Amino acid sequence: MTFKELSEYFEKLENTSSRLSLIDILASLFSKVDSSEVGIVSYLIQGRVAPFYEATEIGMAEKSVAAAIARADKVEREEVLKRYGKLGDLGKVAEELAGKRQSQGLSVKQVFEALKEIASYSGEGTVEKKINALTNLVSNASGIESKHLVRIPLGTSRLGIGDPTVLDAFALLKLGDRSKRKLLEGAYNKVSDLGLIGEVLWQKGLKGVEKLEVTVGRPLRSQLAERINDPKTILEKFNGEAHIQYKYDGFRVQIHKDGKKVRLFSRNLEETTPMMPEIIAGVLKQVKAKTAIFDSEALAYNPESEEFLPFQETTKRRRKHGIAEAAKAMPLKAFVFDVIYYDKKSLVGMPVKERMKILDQAIIGDEVLVKQTGEFVKDYQKIDERFLQALTQGLEGLIIKRPDSLYEAGARNFNWIKMKKHSSGELKDTIDCVILGYIYGRGKRASFGAGALLVGLYDKERDLFVTVAKIGTGLSDQEWREIHKRADKIKVDKKPARVDSIIVPSVWVEPEIVVEILADEITKSPIHTAGKENGEPGFALRFPRLVRFREGDKRPEDATTVKELIELYNLQYSKK
Ligand code: ATP
Repeated sequence: MTFKELSEYFEKLENTSSRLSLIDILASLFSKVDSSEVGIVSYLIQGRVAPFYEATEIGMAEKSVAAAIARADKVEREEVLKRYGKLGDLGKVAEELAGKRQSQGLSVKQVFEALKEIASYSGEGTVEKKINALTNLVSNASGIESKHLVRIPLGTSRLGIGDPTVLDAFALLKLGDRSKRKLLEGAYNKVSDLGLIGEVLWQKGLKGVEKLEVTVGRPLRSQLAERINDPKTILEKFNGEAHIQYKYDGFRVQIHKDGKKVRLFSRNLEETTPMMPEIIAGVLKQVKAKTAIFDSEALAYNPESEEFLPFQETTKRRRKHGIAEAAKAMPLKAFVFDVIYYDKKSLVGMPVKERMKILDQAIIGDEVLVKQTGEFVKDYQKIDERFLQALTQGLEGLIIKRPDSLYEAGARNFNWIKMKKHSSGELKDTIDCVILGYIYGRGKRASFGAGALLVGLYDKERDLFVTVAKIGTGLSDQEWREIHKRADKIKVDKKPARVDSIIVPSVWVEPEIVVEILADEITKSPIHTAGKENGEPGFALRFPRLVRFREGDKRPEDATTVKELIELYNLQYSKK
C-alpha cells in the first residue's frame, strides 16, 4: 500500500462523525493491506510506530517539525510559523506549502521504517537528525500525504480510533460481522498488541489468534474488580468461600522478569521501568525463577516513620527526572498480589488457590517485594474483621476473589470484588470521567478560557463516550488554567466520531483526559446520554466536583463504564 492511499483514508476518517462509518472506512482500508502491512497500518492510524506498551515516542517539537517543513518546501521557518499561527495546525501548513507537489509513491512500509528510525535517534545531534529524516519524507510527499505525515511525530493525528474500533473493523472484514469482535478480544487482552492480532489474523485466521498466549515482556490487560460492600452477599456469590487480600492504594505495576531483564507496566500498559529502579533491584534479588509475571500495587514508604504514604504522595514517583533522588527519599514497596506467569509457563488458566501457592514460593523475603498470598475464609465475620483491620492500618479496604477463578485478562466481573470504605453507611466512591469538551465561562472565569467542563463515561458495549455531567465548581483559578492548557492541546473542530452527546460545548476535545469525580448522587437526566436508550432518560451526576487527574494511569476506555454507573445508581437506591 502506498502512503498516498493511506492518507486518503486518513482524510475520510478525519471527516466522519459517526463511529459506524469509522468502522466501515477502516474495514475498507484493511481490505487493501496484506499481512506484512496490517500491523504497520494498525499502528500508524493511531499515530504510533509500535504497540502502545512500547515506549517508542517519535516525539518532535513543533519547532523541529516546522524546520523540516521549511526545508522540504524551501521557505523560511518563520514563514511556516506565521502560517501555523493562522491555521493552528502544522499538518494544514504542510499541505498548503506542498501545493501541487506530486506524490513520489512512498510506501507505508517506507514511511513506517523512517518514522521508526526517527524514534530511535538519541544522544548528540538527535534534533538535527530527526529534522533531516522528516525533511526527506516531506520532500517526497504530496499535500495530503504531508498533512498526515507531519502530524504523526507531533502526536496530533487525533483520528479518535480506539483499539475496540480497530478490532471491530478486523472482525467485520475477516469474520464477516463486527459483533464477532468478542472473539478477537480474548487474545487482545492477553497480548495488548493490535498489530500482532492483525498479522496473525491475516496469516492464520481466527484459530491462530485464539492460540496467542501471555508472554513475558508483553503486558496483558489487568483484571479488574466490581464493587460489593456486603460480605454476606459476597460469600453467597462465591458458594461459601472467599479469598481475601488487603487493598493497597498506590499504583498498579505489572512486573515482567526475563532473566536479568525486568520491565514494569502501569495499569494502562504504559512502560514504567525507568521510574522504579528499587523495584527492579528487588525483583532481581528476591525472585529466583528465570521468567515470571507478577501483578502488584506499588506504594511509597517512609523509611523514617515506617509509614505508607497516601496516594497523593506515591503518585509523585511517576516522574521522568530526578528518579534516583526520589527513589531514595520515597522508596517504593511492591505488594505482589498475583502471579500470572512463572518459570516459562502462563498461569492464566490456573485458579486463584493454585496461583497463591506458586506466589508463596516465588518471592523470597520482603525487602521490596512483599507477597500478599491473602487468606481463604468461610465466614463473613472474618471478612468484616479483616476489613476493619485494613481501615485501621490506613488502607482502603479489601479485594475479595473467587478461589476457583482463573486470571481473566481485561475482565471486570464479580470474580474480583472490591470492598471499600463506607461513609455514614452509604457507598461513597468516585467516578472516573473523560473530558469531552468545555463551555466558555462568563465574567471573571472567561479569562481562564473555561467555565464548565463537559465530562462523560465510557459505554463499553457501544464503544462510545457518553455525557454524564457538566462540572463548573470546585476548581481554583489555577486549576482552570491547568485544564485549559491540557485541553487546548487536544481540541478538535467538530464532535469526535466516538462521542454521543446532546449538549454541544463551546469547544470539543478528543476524549483523552481522565479525571476522578466525586458527586452527591446519581440522578436520571434527559439531557445526558449516559445510559439513555429507547426513549428513556440517561443518568447524570449531581453536584460533581473534580478530585484529581487520572491521565497518568488511565486511558479513556478505562473510565467508569455506563454499566458500572447504573449499578451504582441501583445500589444507591437500595440503601435508602
Ligand atoms: P479500577 O482499577 O477497578 O478501574 P480504580 O483504579 O479506581 O479502579 P479501585 O477501584 O480503587 O481502583 O480498585 C482496584 C485497584 O486496586 C486495582 O486496579 C489495583 O490497582 C488495586 N489493588 C490493591 N490491592 C489489590 C489486590 N490485593 N488485588 C487486586 N487489586 C488490588
